[in-house]
Amino acid sequence: MSNSMSCFGYCNDCEEIHELPSSLAIPHCHALMAQLSMHKRIDFDVPLEASDPRLSTDMLYSKMRGRMFGILVCEDEHGKEVILRAFSSRHNGVWNVAGWVPPLVDEHAFVATVERGNLDIHPLTDLIDTLPKESKEWYLKLAERRLVSHGILAKLNALYQFHNFNRETRTLEQAFQLKKGIPVGTGDCCAPKLLNYAAIHGLKPLSIAEFFWGKETASGHRIEGNFYASCEEKCQPILGFMLCQGKQVVTD
Ligand SMILES: [Zn+2]
Ligand SMILES: [Zn+2]
Repeated sequence: MSNSMSCFGYCNDCEEIHELPSSLAIPHCHALMAQLSMHKRIDFDVPLEASDPRLSTDMLYSKMRGRMFGILVCEDEHGKEVILRAFSSRHNGVWNVAGWVPPLVDEHAFVATVERGNLDIHPLTDLIDTLPKESKEWYLKLAERRLVSHGILAKLNALYQFHNFNRETRTLEQAFQLKKGIPVGTGDCCAPKLLNYAAIHGLKPLSIAEFFWGKETASGHRIEGNFYASCEEKCQPILGFMLCQGKQVVTD
């Protein structure tokens, strides 16, 4: 992996690529890997008897396979080093774990939106199951269900707020650099979680690195202990905005 280009994205405002180097964060990632392999749980800050069984790393070696973890090295306003850590998406369904940066989205609002959506989706699914396959009504109800689920996704996307180091806040749609569709789960990876937390808390980002932990992906593209650049589909289109510190004025 190229050190200089692990976390980057094109910023539409500055019309240039913004990036964050990884070298400072690498040793902290190795320390985190050592913690994960020793404790085999992600809530290793609390004593074993107080640990949550859902936070065991066993699931990373099951059919569910591994996931990405990340470290952001920052500096507070006094120049003191602050180390932030994140796991991508949810761990065994758990969004918020002490010692890890929170998701961009409010967990309760997210769950409530999914549940409300299910109230619309489930009756449609039940109805579709009773209709003769490939009948006119079956196609109509399938189309209706597709519309309803798009509406739910739009509501979920609207719950995400992206902050940057230029003190700006944008919705997912405004922050996403491309005009085409926004993939499900955009904002749930390590880099956006880490950068958003730093931006909100007035921390200056210095270095970021993300590594894979657990059973390798089915494709074999991700292997435990290896470092990977922020993903191209979900992260790169929002990282330009998230890493923006405004147009750098060049003086000579
Ligand atoms: Zn990503
Ligand atoms: Zn910019």
